[in-house]
Amino acid sequence: MPLSEFELIARYFADLGATRADVPLGIGDDGAVLACPADEELVAVIDTLVAGTHFPAGSSAASIGHRALAVNLSDIAAMGARPAWALLALTLPSVEQRWLAEFARGFGALARRSGVALVGGDTTSGPLSVTVQLLGFVPRGQALRRAGGRAGDALYVSGTPGDAAAGLEIELGAPAVETDATRTLRERFLYPEPRMALGERLRGLASACIDVSDGLLGDLGKLASASGCGAALETGALPLSDALLAACGSERARRLALVGGDDYELLFAVPPAREAALLGALPPQKWHYRRIGALEAQHGVRVLREGAVIEFSHSGYDHFAG
Ligand code: ADP
Ligand code: MG
Repeated sequence: MPLSEFELIARYFADLGATRADVPLGIGDDGAVLACPADEELVAVIDTLVAGTHFPAGSSAASIGHRALAVNLSDIAAMGARPAWALLALTLPSVEQRWLAEFARGFGALARRSGVALVGGDTTSGPLSVTVQLLGFVPRGQALRRAGGRAGDALYVSGTPGDAAAGLEIELGAPAVETDATRTLRERFLYPEPRMALGERLRGLASACIDVSDGLLGDLGKLASASGCGAALETGALPLSDALLAACGSERARRLALVGGDDYELLFAVPPAREAALLGALPPQKWHYRRIGALEAQHGVRVLREGAVIEFSHSGYDHFAG
């Protein structure tokens, strides 16, 4: 007997993620009832992952579940917010219980350790697609924005951008000998770790923040133009992982770090007057971020190599560009 929609929800989604006291009514009614904290603002984000576009069609269900939540957590982190409640709209070509159990395991594990309760959703049949809406909180008036940076602010990026793009290439390529480096890179694509703690700690320190999902250069362009300025980025300062260097060599590693997607790291600007406070409160070796450039008055993003401007063409992933 195939599972009914009702049974499917009860078995896999009714009790997924963290248990939260601020959910008077969760899954099972026409809507969830949620208790908002009085002195905070709600931050709402949503992202869709479509099979074949945002992940390879044959990706593991656990990875799809993890990523569908992780990409939303990353947006919440970039706002300096704390995640709370998720809604999940799932379109499935068929009901495969093994797939559903793995999907729920990947989603549920990340939700629990992020303090996120799944409070509702929708289940339909059709080509595989996963939409997650995530709601979080931020103290009133304190959300981090893309706008807010000024010429002279230092630019920092967390983690080691480029890894996920290299991992996706390995996933899509012909099966090859697995090394420690290729395994690490594949994991970085399949199971991104959004920078939740860093995002929250950047409130009051960063002047602007964005998560790097479509490539560092492209996302830097968005932050700079929202802030009404330009930026210069020094390629020699890019934090490249040992795995990326081992798998790709330094030239290609640098290129992937600049234009590869799916990193889910944070890119943020810090005014000179707050840099000492940043470095004191969040030691870079412990929090894994590095200074890569600065915002400038001159519009546009300039890529430097040892201080000299170099030409750089492609600037990120755009679903509607050619
Ligand atoms: P309705 O027809 O009123 O929209 P549904 O039968 O679609 O209700 O859903 C019943 C309950 O199950 C609702 O609380 C809904 O939020 C929840 N739900 C449905 N699909 C999912 C899902 N994929 N994940 C989490 N909750 C879901
Ligand atoms: Mg209803």
